[in-house]
Parts: sequence; C-alpha cells; structure tokens
Amino acid sequence: MKARQIDGREVAAAVRAEVADDVQEWVRAGHRPPRLEVVQVGSDPASSSYIRSKTRACAEVGIEAGTMKLPDTVSARELREAVRRLNEDEGVDGILVQLPLPPHLSAHDVIEAIDHRKDVDGFHPMNVGRLVLDQPCFRSCTPAGIRELLRYYEIPVKGKHAVVVGASNIVGSPMAVMLSRENSAGKATTTICHKFTRDLTRHTIAADILIVAVGQAGLIRGEMVREGAVVIDVGINRVADESADRGYRLVGDCDYDSVADRASWITPVPGGVGPMTVAMLMKNTLLAARGSIYPR
Ligand code: NDP
Repeated sequence: MKARQIDGREVAAAVRAEVADDVQEWVRAGHRPPRLEVVQVGSDPASSSYIRSKTRACAEVGIEAGTMKLPDTVSARELREAVRRLNEDEGVDGILVQLPLPPHLSAHDVIEAIDHRKDVDGFHPMNVGRLVLDQPCFRSCTPAGIRELLRYYEIPVKGKHAVVVGASNIVGSPMAVMLSRENSAGKATTTICHKFTRDLTRHTIAADILIVAVGQAGLIRGEMVREGAVVIDVGINRVADESADRGYRLVGDCDYDSVADRASWITPVPGGVGPMTVAMLMKNTLLAARGSIYPR
C-alpha cells in the first residue's frame, strides 16, 4: 500500500480562512478585534522565529498581536507580575508564554499564573483538567490540530486503536486524552508509549492510528507499522544535508518512505502537523475573545 498524504497546509489554510471570516463577523457586530499577547523571555532565535510566524498568522486572520519582550535575567516574580498585568488587561484575550524559558524559570509556575480563560495554548492545569473531564476547554494546539486533520479527511476514530508515542504535556499526553474522550475526539482505545515502554514495536504494530511525537528522526520504520494504519508524524528533526541551502533538512520521527509503503494515510514533515499548530492557536484566540469556552 502506498499511503495518501494528509496535507496540513491545505487544512490549516481552511481553518485560518474560517477564523478570518468569524473574526470579520465578530468585528462587524461591533466588537474590537481579538488580541493575542505573546510573552518572550530572552531572544532565542528559534523562539523569535516561532513568534514571527504566529504574529504573521494573526495579521492574516485579523487578530491583533503584540509581543512583550523581557530580558533573560527577569526574575520569576517579575515574570509573574507581567503575566498578572496581562490577565487584568481587558484589551487582551489570549496570553501565550513562549517556551522554553531560561533554566532559572519554571514553565509550570508561569503557566499557572496565566488566567485560564486567556490560556490559548491550553497548558494551564484548569484547561488540562477540563480536557481530562471532557469538558469545554482550550485544547493544546498541536493535538487539537491533529484532531482537525483526522476530521477533515473523515478518518474514523471511534472504536479504533490509537497509539501515541511520546507523552509530553504539550503533545503526547493531551493527544492520548483527546483520542480517548467522547466529545474531544471520539472514543478510540488509546495506548500511550514513552521512554520506558518495552518493545515499542509490539504497540505500534497494533495501531489503527499511530501518532508519533518524540523528536527522534527515523524512530518509526515501516516494519513497525500495521498495513493500512493512519500515521501522524509530529516530530521535527534537523538532519545534516549538504545539498540543502541551510546545510540541513527537516524530517519527522518516521522513516517516511518505508512507513508510507504500509500506511493508508501519512503526514509529511514539513507540511503536515506543523501548520496546524499555528492555525489552532488562531482558533483558540478567537474562542477566547468571544468567551465561547468560559462565558463572561
Ligand atoms: P518532549 O521532548 O517534551 O517529549 C518527548 C516524548 O517522547 C517524551 O514523552 C519521551 O518520554 C518520549 N520518548 C523519548 N524517547 C522515546 C522512545 N525511544 N520511545 C518512546 N517514547 C520516547 O517533546 P515534545 O512532545 O515537545 O515534541 C516531540 C516532537 O514533536 C519534537 O520533535 C518537536 O519538535 C515536535 N513538535 C512539533 C510540533 C508541531 O507543531 N509540528 C509542536 C510541538 C512539538 P518520557 O516522557 O519518558 O521522557
């Protein structure tokens, strides 16, 4: 079997177009445009680049965006104070603290300091807890984007066996929760694998839907995948490539060719899950502005 490609760029463009229409309607109804505020600590080039792409996407859909830049010497208290000011600013709908933070700061502490009603990344314990309880919440953007991909391509989830490789707070864990819940994704039987999982292949080979979010190029090879499985590759890894302008290219966690030979559907890297993450952030910011999750 040669897998069909899931086109994340196309689906993300569709999500952004829908958000842009909804923003226009919201503004036409007399509201101010939604506003996202990004907090950046330090000047890590990768973080700056992610923030630029989020800001560009905001502009495209009519969401206002600002970046609060703080020096990497900022104390935990000063950072919490900055977040508190944004919490209280009625002109700000969504707050996002760009990760990673410098080592002297705790991501958990700063995320908990964000008003959960403005937590458009969906990382606050209130949103994570409500996700587990299958209640309306801001859902972490990458797994929410994957859910959207499955929906767009009408790939059934209910009753399937979904295997999630990787258990981070940002991707793997919320993905596994979503897939197993009724409202969020539709009741798959879900297995979650991590570093201590013994005999990974025993699990991956049993998956109808295999989601891989680890950060190791080539971890999943064709022989680890069931014939006809749906494979979603979240990983983004740089591998050296002298023929590329930048001296490297981006690959996922799956060995694309051998996995595509067995799967029925597969996401490419780049152009699969990546574009969905930013699109879902736009959606969450609109939901925050409209008070759709937490009515005012
Ligand atoms: P983390 O490093 O936070 O988590 C990696 C997870 O993989 C951990 O749960 C870890 O287990 C698990 N793991 C590590 N090695 C193995 C192994 N050999 N077998 C099974 N599980 C293993 O990464 P993230 O979740 O943040 O990101 C994962 C990948 O996805 C990265 O490449 C990242 O760049 C990419 N990513 C892509 C996004 C996109 O928009 N496309 C968005 C976010 C991330 P343990 O819990 O035991 O440590």
